[in-house]
Amino acid sequence: MSNNKYKVLIVEDEANICSFIETLLTTNDYQALVAHTCTMGLTLFASHNPDLVILDLGLPDRDGLELIRTVRQKYMTPIIVLSARTDEMDKIEALDLGANDYITKPFGTGELLARVRVALRLNRYRQVKGLRGCHTGDAVIFTMLRYRRKWDILHPGSRNIAMDLIRQHQHMMFEAQFSNAL
Ligand code: CA
Repeated sequence: MSNNKYKVLIVEDEANICSFIETLLTTNDYQALVAHTCTMGLTLFASHNPDLVILDLGLPDRDGLELIRTVRQKYMTPIIVLSARTDEMDKIEALDLGANDYITKPFGTGELLARVRVALRLNRYRQVKGLRGCHTGDAVIFTMLRYRRKWDILHPGSRNIAMDLIRQHQHMMFEAQFSNAL
């Protein structure tokens, strides 16, 4: 296995979905790591430092949201949430905790692969630009890149207001809106 393959950690307890995603990724030249519980997911994350996490929320031991919370204490690794849950509040909570994207089962293979590519591409871009301290969604990250200097000098109270605005806009604020808001 070549070293330059992207490592994708799949955290999913349903065996057929898991092997389906694993096969899909490996045949598309990704390296796949598989965990069936939240605890195992965190262990593999710590030992392998993956480039991307595909995460099911309904896991047997703990809620997948806990994995997002734990990872985001230290890492900006992109996380795509994959879940049967259709409740909007779950999506909002996952995104607020720092998930980058959300796919509801059932999903198409083309869609999953496209979202994987987008998440990895945005993360590369973010790394190049050295953006720190924002993990509420890729659209926001792009916005932040433009206003990074302004963001860095913001009073913490203003940052909180800005983050609330971003949440209200479901992570899809456009640059002009963000600029005006500040
Ligand atoms: Ca599940």
